[in-house]
Amino acid sequence: MVSPLKDGLRASYAGRSVSHGRAVGRALLVVGRKRQFFHAEIAKQSVDAEIERFRAAVTYASLQLEALIAKPPTPNAADIFDAHLLILESSSLLDAVAEVIRTDLVTAEWALKTVTDKLVSSQRASADVHLRQKAVDIEDVAERVSNALAGERSALPPLPPNTVIVATELLPSTMMEFSGTPPVAIITERGGWTSHTFILARESNIPAVSGIKRVNRRFDDGDLVIVDGDNGFVTFASEEEFERSIKDRASRGTASTAGAEADDSAVPAFRLYVNIDSSTKITKGLERGALGIGLLRSEYLFPGIKGWPDEERQFREYAAAAEAADGREVRIRTFDFDLDQVSFGGREPEKNPALGMRAIRLGLAREQRFRTQLRAILRANTKGNISIILPMVAGVQDIKQVRSLIDDEFSRLDGIQFPKIGAMIELPSAVLVIDQILKNVDFLAIGTNDLVQYTLGVDRDDEMVADWYQSLHPAILRSISRVIDAAKAVGKPTSLCGEMGGSAFYVPLLVGLGAEEFSVKLSSLSTIRRILRSLDREKAAEIARVVMELDTTQAVEDALVAAYRTFWPELQLTRT
Ligand code: PEP
Ligand code: MG
Repeated sequence: MVSPLKDGLRASYAGRSVSHGRAVGRALLVVGRKRQFFHAEIAKQSVDAEIERFRAAVTYASLQLEALIAKPPTPNAADIFDAHLLILESSSLLDAVAEVIRTDLVTAEWALKTVTDKLVSSQRASADVHLRQKAVDIEDVAERVSNALAGERSALPPLPPNTVIVATELLPSTMMEFSGTPPVAIITERGGWTSHTFILARESNIPAVSGIKRVNRRFDDGDLVIVDGDNGFVTFASEEEFERSIKDRASRGTASTAGAEADDSAVPAFRLYVNIDSSTKITKGLERGALGIGLLRSEYLFPGIKGWPDEERQFREYAAAAEAADGREVRIRTFDFDLDQVSFGGREPEKNPALGMRAIRLGLAREQRFRTQLRAILRANTKGNISIILPMVAGVQDIKQVRSLIDDEFSRLDGIQFPKIGAMIELPSAVLVIDQILKNVDFLAIGTNDLVQYTLGVDRDDEMVADWYQSLHPAILRSISRVIDAAKAVGKPTSLCGEMGGSAFYVPLLVGLGAEEFSVKLSSLSTIRRILRSLDREKAAEIARVVMELDTTQAVEDALVAAYRTFWPELQLTRT
């Protein structure tokens, strides 16, 4: 039994709420940068296969290092990679990992971590500066082998019931892999409100707290913890609290489903769509009254697949989505991943992936791969209800280049309807040339999550700068207003599809700025519908006019709180 007293105290850690709710569960540490994993056991009969998998990964990592030694990226890099190869090929390391797999019955990833963690801490404790330096090399080699193991994409084992995930940073792809056996809560050091991981957590009603420093030293596997996602706190729990919470959850589970979505009728004057990250949720979104799928984040449709999924696999997913939508529009966004998410290591990671080779840039740079996605989407459009959204568009040139690929692929297909094409407006450059972009697309989708990140220069995944991530910054409000006005002037629709559009606090202001179309996550549909139905648009426009004159985020926020309290107290539009 794990005591609620940690180091003699009932420790409580303050972080930041990134997904509401409260849950009690058992901590499970998730580690690894590129391919995340956790302590998981294997069956005795799988030991030989697991050791074989480890050996294959070592061989692959050695080949990578030999290639780097033959063609070093910098003159003295060959010596470093040579040293790495020596570490990798030392029989003591290889034998030790195989031995841990055999005796502890754990995965290769976990065995490698156990062995290299031990080595690294003993080197770090050494008085000799060279040995201390060697610790870094061992970590590098371990990372390389981990990446090679990741290349095989063996499925993550299911999570035990009542698991609270603890991770420095939890990758969205890892989160997607948990979808069969979701955790009851998440605790991380990094990641902000608009990080994909927490968008997914909120969608699945999984409470989460981020911003807990050195999180993996504060919690151990098996610790009982209470995650208070409403107030951003984590506390150790007693066995009694844990048992009670399991009983509560079981009774809530049976009571809560009936009648959850009583009113799913359309709201006149507004168009409400749903954001989807898994085609299994499409029917649910439509049942809850969404007009269609306003944003299908295609990169999430293939959990467990590393790299670009092949064309047939993609075609099946997109066709299933179009079918499930039953004639309603499905806007499929082309892959919005970065280089790191589709490569298998063997190269230095990009320094700034958010500013690097990602989204349509990556597509245009890997044209043949990108064509497989465009072709698969086009082929699935037999009923004409699929549209394509292009992420991270910087200006017209990006759109023209992608359109020419779409035209080319379309010209080779028969019996297919040409899809509508839309651009995500997420970069300040796109806002500045919005009139030009509008001449080249059928609709716009404002991705406020990235628009805030790129306009204000604040990493949306970096919890440390969360205070500077200000959705109500006057520059953001001006950008949104400008885009909506420009699109209206030429009669083209604009949807608000970032987290702002799904948040009760921002929606009245967005309506005041002229927004008529929203695409929100499934769990926000009913709240946003209720708010849209209750709003007086004239009043909302008046509030927007007032706040557009203000010059600080704080002033905007204060004015909104006061205005909402005055005009719509019953809606309780508070920032939580
Ligand atoms: C956005 O950036 O607001 C958006 C909707 O896309 P994503 O969150 O997937 O980047
Ligand atoms: Mg985005």
